[in-house]
Amino acid sequence: MANTEMKHKDNVDGSWYCTDPDDDSGEGCIACNVCYTGAPDIFGEDDDGNAFVKKQPEGDDEVEMAKEQMDACPVSSIGCE
Ligand code: SF4
Repeated sequence: MANTEMKHKDNVDGSWYCTDPDDDSGEGCIACNVCYTGAPDIFGEDDDGNAFVKKQPEGDDEVEMAKEQMDACPVSSIGCE
C-alpha cells in the first residue's frame, strides 16, 4: 500500500493518490512515466516528471485503468484508500 502519509501535493481530492518522491519508505515516485503514459486522463506529471492523480477515476473503465497503473508502478507509488 502506497504511503498515505506522503501523498504528492498535487493529487486531486479523492481516494486515489500518488506518493511524493521524497517518501523515504522506498515507495516514492521515481518518475518512470508509466502511469501518466498509460492513463493520461487520470495521472499527470509535475515539472520533475513525478506523477500525481489529476482526475479521480469514475466508472468501471477508468477504475480498471487506474488499477492497471497501480499494478504496473515499479515502486508501489500509487494508492487507493
Ligand atoms: S508508475 Fe509509479 S513511479 Fe512511475 S511515474 Fe507513475 S507513480 Fe511514478
